[in-house]
Amino acid sequence: MQVIVVVLLLPSVFSRLITHDYCVLGAGPGGLQIATFLEETGRDYVVFERSQEPGNFFHHFPRHRKLISINKRFTGRMNKEFNFRHDWNSLLSQNELRFFHYSQDFFPHADDMVKYLQNFSSALSVHYSKEIRHIRLKSSQDAWHGHYFVLEDQREQEHTCKAELHLGHLNDERDIP
Ligand SMILES: Cc1cc2nc3c(=O)[nH]c(=O)nc-3n(C[C@H](O)[C@H](O)[C@H](O)COP(=O)(O)OP(=O)(O)OC[C@H]3O[C@@H](n4cnc5c(N)ncnc54)[C@H](O)[C@@H]3O)c2cc1C
Repeated sequence: MQVIVVVLLLPSVFSRLITHDYCVLGAGPGGLQIATFLEETGRDYVVFERSQEPGNFFHHFPRHRKLISINKRFTGRMNKEFNFRHDWNSLLSQNELRFFHYSQDFFPHADDMVKYLQNFSSALSVHYSKEIRHIRLKSSQDAWHGHYFVLEDQREQEHTCKAELHLGHLNDERDIP
């Protein structure tokens, strides 16, 4: 009987032990960019994405499926920095994975952005189908700023983070509507 009680308690105990230094909400271009910097600097991080793939926005928008961020493959210049500044679609990374390898069109198809973001995210720690429904602070003297962020997903699993990076706006109660 005692063994059964211990086994039943294990999942809830483990769910409260999932801790990362950095939690990033959303695997859009913004989330993937910050995740890349964290990955390249060897940080302990995780990205939570509610959909099953990165770049959820570009699965649906723009509705007409042509990006408004032009694909300027030719600038007439050889300067790498100059050319990168005119590249409106690529993210920054040490592997220099560039969007223009995915489309030759001046106004690229949005699906090409989805493919690019899928490849870009493959080396990153992204947890898909994790919708963060609630965020609260938990006081702790061990935490960097005196508190941890406790993120609760749609399955009521809790993820403890020392720092939380999000791209939207949260209200004062730290709730996600
Ligand atoms: C109509 C329209 C057309 C646009 N066209 C272009 C274009 O052609 N080119 C361009 O560069 N930009 C375009 N943009 C701008 C584009 O939306 C942004 O550049 C880009 O999507 C911003 O990236 P992001 O990562 O900040 O946010 P998003 O791309 O919105 O990513 C947010 C991610 O967070 C996830 N998420 C949200 N809430 C939660 C939660 N609670 N838990 C877990 N995950 C969550 C979402 O599923 C999503 O994947 C357009 C915008 C609009 C409105």
